[in-house]
Parts: sequence; structure tokens; C-alpha cells
Amino acid sequence: MNLILLGAPGSGKGTQAAKLVIAYGFKQLSTGDIFRQNIAQKTDLGRLAEQYMNQGQLVPDDVTNRLVAKQLHHQHQNLIFDGYPRTIAQAEALTQMLTQLHTKVDYVLYLDVPERLLIKRISGRLICPHCKRSFQRHDFHHQPLICPYDGTKLIRRPDDAPAKVRTRLRAYYQETAPLIDYYRHQRLLITIKEKPNETSDDVFARIVEATKLND
Ligand code: AMP
Repeated sequence: MNLILLGAPGSGKGTQAAKLVIAYGFKQLSTGDIFRQNIAQKTDLGRLAEQYMNQGQLVPDDVTNRLVAKQLHHQHQNLIFDGYPRTIAQAEALTQMLTQLHTKVDYVLYLDVPERLLIKRISGRLICPHCKRSFQRHDFHHQPLICPYDGTKLIRRPDDAPAKVRTRLRAYYQETAPLIDYYRHQRLLITIKEKPNETSDDVFARIVEATKLND
């Protein structure tokens, strides 16, 4: 089964993808993580992507699609697409690539989260540059900001700075949100509307039920 996690920055795509990986053996394909890895390794792709990411803008479609094509070459089953596709052009490219590989997208999970919660989450978000997990600053109280899994010092993503977040949300509403209707028309969309005080485990339970992963 191949799944797409669709949602605004801060909607919990990475968190839910990580849970699906652990519980059901999916492989996470996060274009954002791959770009960040390339930036850390100072590759040509990293240098190119960084110019866009640091402005909060999307990396051009042709660059992103080529990156995904390379990943699909290694694996094209049991994938979770996290942060891809982000434009209609990317969605069309993905359908084409998967069709050529005789596979498809089974469900698109749209994580619907109110904007004030997105902003709150992004402004408190810290990530582990090693294991890629994300955390909330307030959960650490006065303890040192180090990853509880591997001891790496946690950092704030450069594009989580407030000025960049506004640009990222604008890019989301303009370029990515049209994918909601696009996949609804294809009858692939499942909307998971986050309820007040719901935990990430509650959201995960709803994802498992909606995709019939336990059947
Ligand atoms: P993310 O980690 O998914 O929040 O992505 C961080 C940043 O990487 C985005 O704001 C974009 O600049 C870039 N990026 C990630 N995925 C894509 C994509 N599918 N298309 C274009 N840019 C992307």
C-alpha cells in the first residue's frame, strides 16, 4: 500500500509518517528530509534546494520530481509520501511514475489542522538533525534540549523562523491546497480533521482505521 500525507506545515505529517514506519513497516519518503540531508552534505542538489527552502519557497517541480524518480527506482511499494506532492504538476508526475512502475497511490490522508495550531506548533518545534524526529520545546521544561533517543543537540529548522513560516503557509494555500480537491475527485482523499486536545496517537488510531491497516 502507498500512502500520501497531505497537509500544511506543522500538521503532523512527519510525526504520523514515523509512526506508520514503526508500526507497519512503511518506508518514509520525505522530500524535505532528503533536501535537508543534501544541504548538510553540501551536494549540488543541496545548494540549489537551500536557496528556495531558506526563503520558505518551494523547490522547483522538475528538481523535486527528478529526486523522487530516483527514490522510486529503489522502492515503489509500501511508501509514505511525506511532503510530496506539493503541486498539481508534482501529483501528475507521481501518477505517471507510479503507473510506469505498475503501482499506484492507495489513499491520500489530508491532515486538517486549524491555522492557529499550525503556527503554535511550528514556533515551538525543535528537530533532531540526526534521527529527524521533531519535538515541542515546552515538553522539555528546564531540561537540556537534547534528543531523548540519541543525545544529539536539538535545533530549530531555519525555515521555522516566523517570517519564513508566513511564506510557507502562503505557498501551501496557493500551490498545495488545490491537491485536496484534486485527490477528492479521484476518490482517494481521506480527511482527518484534528479535534481539540487530540494527541498524535489519537490521530494515528484514526489513520489506521480509515486505511484499514489492521484488517
Ligand atoms: P518539509 O520538511 O516537508 O516541511 O519541507 C521543507 C521545505 O523543503 C519546503 O518548505 C520546501 O522549500 C522544500 N520542499 C519539500 N518538499 C517539497 C516538494 N514536494 N516540492 C517543493 N519543495 C519542497
